[in-house]
Amino acid sequence: MPTTLIIAAGGHGTRFRSDFSGRNSESNERGANKLLFPFLGKPLLCFTLSRFQEIPQIQETIVAISREGEKRLRAWCKEYGWKSVKWVRGGATRAESVWNALKKAHRKSQWIMVHDGARPLITKESVRRLMAYMKQARCAGALLGRKVVPTIKRVDPSGGQILQTVDRRDLFEAETPQLMNRRMLEKAYVENKNAFNATDEAALLESVGAQVKVLTHDAWNPKITTYQDMILAEAYLEKQGRVEVRTGFGRDSHRLVAKRKLYLGGVHIPFPKGALGHSDGDALLHSIADAVLGAIGGGDIGDHFSDRNPKIKGIRSEKILRKILCDARGKNWQPEHVDSVIVLEQPKLGAHKRQIREKIADIMGLDADRVSVKAKTAEGLGPEGEGLSISCEALVTMKKVAL
Ligand code: MG
Repeated sequence: MPTTLIIAAGGHGTRFRSDFSGRNSESNERGANKLLFPFLGKPLLCFTLSRFQEIPQIQETIVAISREGEKRLRAWCKEYGWKSVKWVRGGATRAESVWNALKKAHRKSQWIMVHDGARPLITKESVRRLMAYMKQARCAGALLGRKVVPTIKRVDPSGGQILQTVDRRDLFEAETPQLMNRRMLEKAYVENKNAFNATDEAALLESVGAQVKVLTHDAWNPKITTYQDMILAEAYLEKQGRVEVRTGFGRDSHRLVAKRKLYLGGVHIPFPKGALGHSDGDALLHSIADAVLGAIGGGDIGDHFSDRNPKIKGIRSEKILRKILCDARGKNWQPEHVDSVIVLEQPKLGAHKRQIREKIADIMGLDADRVSVKAKTAEGLGPEGEGLSISCEALVTMKKVAL
């Protein structure tokens, strides 16, 4: 069942923005877009996307996204090693966004799965169940839904007068994912003149007489609409013990010799000597990489990048750290904070510290205020003090959210 996943992420979250600003006097630019707002430390949309990785039937993911989101998405694809994620510009309505993505779907995809970017709690199990259900239900579309529990009133909007208590026995709330036969969905877009106003894909299929079924499920799969929804969803995962935080420690030393370049934190520092090593000898990035591995139980750098491998001779350490982080993210670990110390007699690093910090923040995918770089001399003592070597130490805090 070759399937294209379309993530509807074109909106800006107006209700979220006003709710967030109302509760936070210092509302910053992060409050501007719900889908880019941190959810358990990861942008909400990025969190939702990672839920769909490693589902073999999904051969590609197309995200319908705003201009501001596109830049971020491109960076996540690099950080997480997502090769099958593409994007298109979101439309004025959800249905228009999905149409933009549908036009770019791989020609071999017979099924289209649409999911809200703002439903981060979707589980792989629910996705698998929906796919299996669709296979045997012989319908044009199926979606996840739940029975409506609250008592629902039909009310005269002008006077507040209750007109009717609605019989809720056959009422269901439509969630996503919604899984559709591609041909039928395309037909609905072509034949329904009001297609761009449809509020979900099921409504489109219904409008051309196709059969769509609801698969009820118990997993909580809320759409994050307000800031309060987000806090509740975060607390839900945390309470379930699905969030784990660990700290790892790393230490590294290199001999300083002539005719080598000096790299620290991925930044070239002009100096007549540099660190001797199989790689570029960046002791700071090595200590950070080892701290990352220490936190996630991943061994040490040598286990991943052997100094006997001639193919990686002279490799930039930025590449090493990025690869280690990419693998960590694949196991749902992400960095939260870095603290580090450089022990070096010469040159003085005061003028370079800011650049080093910003470079590390860029590599780690962190805000610069979550990265600390401290520089010390050894007061003339020991090999560092005599200018023979450089040593670095780092503590890295990593967070895992079990999906
Ligand atoms: Mg080293």
